[in-house]
Amino acid sequence: MVVGEIAQEKEVVIIGGGPGGYTAAIRAAQLGKEVLLIEQKKLGGVCLNEGCIPSKTFVHAAKQASKLEHISTLGYQIENNRFDYSSFLTYKNQVVTQLGAGVASLCKANKIEIMYGRATFISENKIGIENGHHYEVVNFEQAIIATGAKVDSKKILPNYQLDRLQLFNLDRLPDQLILVGSDYIILEAAFAYSLLGTKVSIILQKNKEFEYDLDIVKEVKRQLKKNKISLYTEIEKLHFDEAENGVECSFINQKGEANKIYSNAFYMSESLTGNTESLGLDRIGIMVDEHQFIICDKQGRTNLNHIFAIGDVTGEPFYAVKSMKQGKVAAEMISGGINEVDLTWMPKVVHSIPPIASVGYTEEEAKIAGFSTKTGQYQLPGNGYALLTGNRDGFVKAVIDEQTNRLIGMHIIGEGAIELISTAIIGGEMVARDEDFIFPTYPHPSINEALLEAIEDTVGLSIHQVAKKKKRKEKMTIQ
Ligand SMILES: Cc1cc2nc3c(=O)[nH]c(=O)nc-3n(C[C@H](O)[C@H](O)[C@H](O)COP(=O)(O)OP(=O)(O)OC[C@H]3O[C@@H](n4cnc5c(N)ncnc54)[C@H](O)[C@@H]3O)c2cc1C
Repeated sequence: MVVGEIAQEKEVVIIGGGPGGYTAAIRAAQLGKEVLLIEQKKLGGVCLNEGCIPSKTFVHAAKQASKLEHISTLGYQIENNRFDYSSFLTYKNQVVTQLGAGVASLCKANKIEIMYGRATFISENKIGIENGHHYEVVNFEQAIIATGAKVDSKKILPNYQLDRLQLFNLDRLPDQLILVGSDYIILEAAFAYSLLGTKVSIILQKNKEFEYDLDIVKEVKRQLKKNKISLYTEIEKLHFDEAENGVECSFINQKGEANKIYSNAFYMSESLTGNTESLGLDRIGIMVDEHQFIICDKQGRTNLNHIFAIGDVTGEPFYAVKSMKQGKVAAEMISGGINEVDLTWMPKVVHSIPPIASVGYTEEEAKIAGFSTKTGQYQLPGNGYALLTGNRDGFVKAVIDEQTNRLIGMHIIGEGAIELISTAIIGGEMVARDEDFIFPTYPHPSINEALLEAIEDTVGLSIHQVAKKKKRKEKMTIQ
């Protein structure tokens, strides 16, 4: 092994070049810090290389299949609508490469030094970086750990069981796919694979359910049925056996009957553990919980004052968006600022087809939390722009606190949901009341108007639909 001759001196080292790590690096550099970013594989981490970006590129490709019928209604004659998966793979690789190069050039422009290799703490202010036969030692003043998370269980049948990093990165489309679980990855995979011709089955084990507002769950189930995706609920005694070129999945269904389904591949929602194994945290006494997630406060500070942790390595929720937020906050703290992470208005989004976006309390959660609520809904088929663009599926639902008229939750399923939810996020963060949403003018024609009408519906004043029940108009001040 070749050891660097003298230890380098750095103000800030950041371990892990995923969305959390590179965001922290850029923010710290913007605030005048001299930054070293250490990455053992590829810049962009799970998000860019296997997770968010590949999965959304895949969903985007599949979504086009759902548009073919509408496109031909518009007059386009599509003679050969065959999907060439290899062209898609080329496109996806281009997207990932281009975004990876973008991260590298942003780091360069911000004068961030990037070192490739595996980092391990030697002492509280010294880190070793190993890359093949090369070993470098760096003394640092402050550090941010952003090493992500990994799956904590072994596969049952490794030849056929996909993990979360493989699910959207297959060489060929499977004929059948079984998905066990209820999270957003399951729903995104289900709709996308199904639209591309794979026979998809979702299995929800006993007492498991999609975790959204009940009206959204109802619509999700309707959409699964419409897309011919089989949904098995309240399943017990789930078991996988190897079969010819695939697996046989056996279980007891809701009615107590024994069932068997065959599939080429399967994926089960995975529980994760902190990626801390090789960091040498024991050596410097950084505290982790029983799942190896680093314990830190709302600013990312660990039990060592000068070492912060951000992103998946700090535990749930596992979202790039959370990692990036934590990255900014930690970088601002080490640069002398004051900030903290508050995930109250962090949205839950699913790039399913149609997409889902949700923020704040569901109607049910609000009741449990002691709010007296009024809700409003607007169905997308009533929205002119949704109708003319062939996006009729879905609705917007608003949950308002009856005492204060504050928006406390918004739940959307349908085209535009993911962009539209930002209005509710900003409104929620600014403690907006119903009238704050109703007073402004919205672009027309656009799906934005569905949000306006959902809030108007909470007081029975939605224009483009007939109110289902009498609502309390007196709760809103009409100007
Ligand atoms: C299929 C899928 C879809 C997803 N979709 C979304 C989505 O739509 N929206 C969303 O917000 N999130 C999504 N996620 C989650 C998101 O990818 C993660 O939450 C995010 O990548 C976590 O970022 P991070 O920076 O904390 O860690 P990571 O992205 O895991 O990055 C950690 C980095 O640290 C490096 N590293 C680890 N140990 C060391 C070491 N000792 N030395 C040097 N480097 C090290 C790793 O190589 C890696 O590059 C998805 C995930 C998957 C799997």
